[in-house]
Amino acid sequence: MRSGKRWQAAVLATASLLWGAGCTPTGDKPNESTDSAGPETNPTVVAPADPAIANHFATMFEVGPDADARYQESLEQLRTVPGATEILISRYKALGDANPSERWQVVETLRALADPAALKFLVPLARSPAPVDDYQPGNNSTSGDTFYGTKTCNQAMVNQFWNHFDFDKGDWDDGFGFEAPCDLNRPLARTFNALYLLAYSAQNYATTTGDLSGNALRWGYPFAASNIDELDGRCGSGDKNSGARATTYHGAAVDDRTELKWPFFYGENVVERAGTIVHEARHANGKSHNAGTSCPRKASCDSEWSYMGANSYHVLYLWWFYVDGTRTTTAMKNFAKTEAQYVIDYGFKTRPPYTIY
Ligand SMILES: [Zn+2]
Repeated sequence: MRSGKRWQAAVLATASLLWGAGCTPTGDKPNESTDSAGPETNPTVVAPADPAIANHFATMFEVGPDADARYQESLEQLRTVPGATEILISRYKALGDANPSERWQVVETLRALADPAALKFLVPLARSPAPVDDYQPGNNSTSGDTFYGTKTCNQAMVNQFWNHFDFDKGDWDDGFGFEAPCDLNRPLARTFNALYLLAYSAQNYATTTGDLSGNALRWGYPFAASNIDELDGRCGSGDKNSGARATTYHGAAVDDRTELKWPFFYGENVVERAGTIVHEARHANGKSHNAGTSCPRKASCDSEWSYMGANSYHVLYLWWFYVDGTRTTTAMKNFAKTEAQYVIDYGFKTRPPYTIY
C-alpha cells in the first residue's frame, strides 16, 4: 500500500531533514544574557495552513484501499493552486522547527509536486545535519502543560509575558522555543504555562504588575513581574533529574537575571514551576537563603519561617493555590499541596509547625 511506503520514506526524511537544537549542557548559550537594544522581537504564533494544503496533508495519513487514489487526486488539485510551491516554502519557514510532523508534510509535498522551483529550497535542507533532540517532556497531560497550553498559545498572551518578564530572543532561540512558542515540548511554552497559572489562578486576579494587594495567590504574579529583571532559558545540567532548577543573579556587579534550567522545564509540573518563579522572585527582591545547608534537604535552606525568605514565599504561594486556586485542575492543586509540604518539611533549619490539610 502506498501510504505504508510514504511512512517509510517519512522516517528516513525526518532523520535527515528535520532539526531542532536540543540542549547541549555547555556552550549552547552565552553565559551572559542577551539584552536586546531597540524594538523587541516577540515570538510569533503560527496560523493554520492554507485549506487546500491542509487537505492534502490530511491525505498523507490515510490508509485503506482508496488511500493512494485519494492522495494522487489531492496532489493534482494542489497543482492547480496558484503559487503552491511558494505557499509551501513560506509555510515551512513560518513553522520553524515547531512541528516536526507538519514540517515533514511540507517537505514531502514539495518533493511530490516536483516543481523545479522547489529544488533550490530542498537541496540545502537535505545537506543539513541531523538534530540532537534532548527535550524531556514526559507526559504533558500529567504535568498540566496540555491544559495550560490551550490558554497560552495565542499572540496576546505571548506578548504579555514577553514584556512583563523581559524575555529576549537571544535567550530563547536555538531550540528553546522562540521559533515555536506553542510547542509544549519546548522550554518557552512550558515557562509561559507557569506564568499563566501564576497570573490567573486567583478569582479576582491582579490586572497590573503594580498591584500587590491581597494574598500570595493574587500578588504572586505582580511580585514576580516587578522583581525579576528578566527570565532566561538555559540548559543547566541538560538533564531534568539533576542540578539547579533556576538561578537568580542579583546585585550591583552582575547583570540581574533569573535563569531557568532543564530541571525547571522538565522536572517540574506547571504549578511547581510557578512556585519556583515566586521563590526566585524573592531572591531577585534581594533576599538570599540564610541557613546554608543546615536543613533536611541540605541546600537552599532558610533559618525559620519568620525570616520570610524565598522558602516562606514559595510555601505561601503554593498553599494559597491549593486552598483557593481557580481556573485550574484538582490535580494541580494537589501537586501544590505536596510541594508546599515538602518545602515546609525540608527547607528550614527550624521546621515551621505547619501541616497542610
Ligand atoms: Zn533559592
